[in-house]
Amino acid sequence: MSNPINTRIVLAARPSGEPDASHFRLERLPVPAPGPGQVLLRNRYLSLDPYMRGRMDAGRSYSPPVAIDDVMEGRTVGEVLESRHPGFAVGDQVVATGGWQTFAVVDGDAITRRLDGMTLPLSTALGVYGMPGFTAYAGLHEIGKPQPGETLVVAAASGPVGATVGQIAKMRGARTVGIAGGEAKRQYLETIGFDVALDHRADDFSEQLRTAVPGGIDVYFENVGGKVFDAVVPLLNDFARIPVCGTIATYNARGQVLPGPDRLPGFFSQILRQRLSVRGFIQRDFIDLFPRFLEEMGQWLADGRIQYREDIVEGLENAPEAFFGLLKGRNFGKLVVKLE
Ligand code: NAP
Repeated sequence: MSNPINTRIVLAARPSGEPDASHFRLERLPVPAPGPGQVLLRNRYLSLDPYMRGRMDAGRSYSPPVAIDDVMEGRTVGEVLESRHPGFAVGDQVVATGGWQTFAVVDGDAITRRLDGMTLPLSTALGVYGMPGFTAYAGLHEIGKPQPGETLVVAAASGPVGATVGQIAKMRGARTVGIAGGEAKRQYLETIGFDVALDHRADDFSEQLRTAVPGGIDVYFENVGGKVFDAVVPLLNDFARIPVCGTIATYNARGQVLPGPDRLPGFFSQILRQRLSVRGFIQRDFIDLFPRFLEEMGQWLADGRIQYREDIVEGLENAPEAFFGLLKGRNFGKLVVKLE
């Protein structure tokens, strides 16, 4: 092997609030050897995702935290360099939980997807044609259920989840309102077919949203929480559906009491009066839909009915800075680190 050193980024400390460089450590170690049933992967692309902020915190969640001194968790597209699993051969391209590192040893049975015959760029298996795209697909299919003529609102709408939500809802006949941070992203939303595109940083954002939805909101695909949620709540129609996918505006404030009035009793009362459906979900709850997603989304991408944008950062050493940017909206499209 020409490069026998594995470069990896481990969790050095747990942040309280915003993460910074002191919470990560870059290490260089010999490439490990695969054991029985395992494969050695050369990671080509690493996905950076908002959920990773949660893995840095201790405490109960839907997945255990990354342990201090362990490699940061992350999905990767990798190539099999050595296989001790009968299902994989040298040269196979796969999606795996390979982590923030250039090489990974993983159990063959834990590899989630093979990319044989993939005609799209391999990086899309981490974005629109992977977990985030599936999140949009499944959250709409199972919870949001947009109907022709209904109005759907989604924020983080230039990212892989939000952009896909808007485009699928449009295909389902809904009127779509996309929300993003800044004018460049707002304009991009118009190019991918949102009926209305708004900038949540505008001083009069709440008024703009009210004007944009004269018939109210039937589906609010919740990606962000915070002030977008505050602006949406008074505009919800009876029987509105709210797939709660993410609340990135508060990912750095877990366990803290946020300033401002307590809106929870009022919102519960509204859920009752308006018979709202509010359901949190993790995409893997609906994993049975994944084969159907691959088929339908593959066709939509081939037909150009779904568009996507990627934000590709070069080099593992730049992953922490890119990740900090993700939590602040500095990414523009699906954030992926190219590792070669
Ligand atoms: P993304 O859109 O590529 O990146 C996150 C975006 O969030 C940023 O670019 C920024 O966009 C926006 N943002 C950050 N802080 C914000 C704030 N305070 N207010 C409003 N917007 C803010 O991310 P993604 O991968 O598509 O994920 C979107 C959401 O889906 C996240 O909440 C994520 O955790 C969630 N998710 C959930 C699941 C699940 O299974 N439940 C799976 C995947 C993702 P702007 O610059 O436009 O504000």
